[in-house]
Amino acid sequence: MSTQNNFVANTLNVTPPTLNNQLNELVINWHITEACNYNCTYCFAKWGKPNELLRSLEAIERLLDQLANYFIRGNPKIKDMLGYKTVRLNLAGGEPMMLGSTLSIVLILAKQKGFNTSIITNGSYLLKNKFDLPKNVLDMIGISFDSLDYQTRKEIGRIDRKGNSLSAEELKCALHKLSHTQIGLKTKINTVINAINWRENFSSFMSDLAPDKWKVLQVMPYGNDELLISDDKFNQFVERHEKQGITIYPESNSAMTESYLMIEPKGRFYQNSRDLGGYVYSDCINEVGANKALSLINFNANTFMSRYSRDESIIALGEVI
Ligand code: SF4
Repeated sequence: MSTQNNFVANTLNVTPPTLNNQLNELVINWHITEACNYNCTYCFAKWGKPNELLRSLEAIERLLDQLANYFIRGNPKIKDMLGYKTVRLNLAGGEPMMLGSTLSIVLILAKQKGFNTSIITNGSYLLKNKFDLPKNVLDMIGISFDSLDYQTRKEIGRIDRKGNSLSAEELKCALHKLSHTQIGLKTKINTVINAINWRENFSSFMSDLAPDKWKVLQVMPYGNDELLISDDKFNQFVERHEKQGITIYPESNSAMTESYLMIEPKGRFYQNSRDLGGYVYSDCINEVGANKALSLINFNANTFMSRYSRDESIIALGEVI
C-alpha cells in the first residue's frame, strides 16, 4: 500500500485496495424508497419512514448533480484508488417501480448526467402493463427471484397482499418484453439463499433463462434468524449448481459488509458495519456535498474491488456488465 493510499484512506475513511487490478465501473446503490408491495422476511430495507428525497424532484436532481460532479466529472481520490471509468447508478428499494413516473424521471435525468443506469426490482410491476419504462433508459436490470415454487416464495414473504408472486414463467415474459424497449439491456437475477430454499435446484431454469449474471447471496442476519444458514449450506448450494455447469456469482455474508457504496432514501451514504453491528450514516449529501459525506462512512475498497473485479474479466469477454 503506497503512502498516498494511506493518506487517502485516512482522509476518506476508506480502506484502500490491495488488489492490483482496477475497476471499469463504480456502482452507487441508491435505495430510493423503502415502500414495497412484497414483505420478505429477510428484508433489510427499513429506514423507519424516512423523509424520502423523491418527494422533491428538485432535491433528486440536486443529488444526481452532486454525485455526477464528484464521481464522474470530478477527480476524487477514490477515482485514483479504484481506477473506474464509468459510474452506474443502481436504483434499489424497497420496490423502485412503485414510484411510477418519478422513477422514469430519475432514470432520464441520470442518463442525461452521464450515469449508466440499473434497477433492482422484484419484477411484479413489469407484468400486466402496471408500469412501462421509457425507451432506452436502462442499461441493466436485476430481478430478485428466490424460488420456482409458489409455496416457498410465500413462506419467504415474496408475495403481495393479494397473494400474487412473480412466477418463473412471468419472469421470462418480463425479460422478453423489456428486451424490446431497452436496447442492449443486461439482465441479472438475484437469489437470496436461506433456510427455506437452500436445497432447491435452479439449474435447468437458469440454463433456459440465460441471464447475463446470476448472483446468489447468503441471507444476512437481519430480522428473522430462522432463515439463516451456515456457510457450509450456502457453499453446497453454490457447488451443486456449479457442478451442473451454471455460472454463479456467490456473495457470502462477509463479502457484503462495508463493501457497497450505498445511499439511503433520505440521500445519505450508509454502510453496514462489522465493528459497530449496525448501520453508519453520513450527513445528507445535498447538505454537505459528496466528498464530505463519503468521508463520514467506512467504505472498504478491497471488498468492493473483489466483488466487481471478477465481473471485469467477464466484461473483456463481452458477456456481462
Ligand atoms: S422485494 Fe425487496 S424490498 Fe421488497 S420486501 Fe422483498 S427484499 Fe424487501
